[in-house]
Amino acid sequence: MNYRHAYHAGNFADVLKHSVLFALIQALQAKDTPFALIDTHAGSGCYALDSEEAGKTGEYRDGIVRLLFPDLQRGDGRAKQTLPALLRHWLDAILALPGNEHGLKLYPGSPLQAARAMRSGDSAHLCELHPDEAQLLRELFHDDPRVHVHNRNGYEALKGLLPPKEKRGLVLIDPPYEAQEAEYRLIEATLKAALQRWPTGIYAIWYPIKQRSQVQPFLRWLQHSSARRVLRAELLVHPDDSPLRLNGSGMAILNAPWNFDQVLREPLQAMARLLSQQRAAEWKLDWLVQEQGAAATPPK
Ligand code: SAM
Repeated sequence: MNYRHAYHAGNFADVLKHSVLFALIQALQAKDTPFALIDTHAGSGCYALDSEEAGKTGEYRDGIVRLLFPDLQRGDGRAKQTLPALLRHWLDAILALPGNEHGLKLYPGSPLQAARAMRSGDSAHLCELHPDEAQLLRELFHDDPRVHVHNRNGYEALKGLLPPKEKRGLVLIDPPYEAQEAEYRLIEATLKAALQRWPTGIYAIWYPIKQRSQVQPFLRWLQHSSARRVLRAELLVHPDDSPLRLNGSGMAILNAPWNFDQVLREPLQAMARLLSQQRAAEWKLDWLVQEQGAAATPPK
């Protein structure tokens, strides 16, 4: 367990993951009835961008900073106002975090982003295995009765948390992939059991893209899962052929809201424009499974 998200908070992968999370929470809030969020790999909840860890990699500068200051990055005069509404609202929510009054100092992780978007009746279960990270989470949410922190293995804990009493909501699975390809098999087994216990839940799984061949078996597995719909959203800032670095990342969204591809299309285009590195970034957005359970296009 060497992974610490403090080194990576706010990077290009977080931009994709957290803007999709924001959009999913918005979709859940289209109904008045409460929902539950279960974050199986929660991290510590909030990250100081002036920390030694964030400074060491500087990854947030090629992530969140590029969206906040597109004209600075590209010198082409495009300002935040030209971003699609979803991204503007997401950035506004990050800048509205106490501590960010004078600019971007803190980057909220998935638990804090979700908690700030949740209503009084919504609830969150946060699983984090590392004791220090779990302790930070507990401190962050000590006075929020909507949020429950579990210092547990998120894969194991998930079973007992499903189905949530609200009967609607979202499971976010965002592991560090330290076990590499074995992590995918663990996710598949977890999803299989979870879908049996709660077939109507939304499940959003973040995955890294280094070499495309490492992800393919998981995407194929998803095509034959029992989810009614599976949407895949990917953003690549480098070619997907090197095992040595994070070239891009994806979100697989099981039981995604029916029009969710339309919600993500423009934001993905904008992210690709602003986050591209040596060459134009690439993005993919397609249904791996459509309503009848029939496989859509074979994943490329
Ligand atoms: N979801 C967080 C966010 O978006 O802000 C980031 C999570 S980070 C990528 C992965 C976290 O999972 C790390 O904090 C790590 O300690 C934790 N972790 C690793 N294995 C775990 C497990 N089996 N169950 C729960 N947490 C685990």
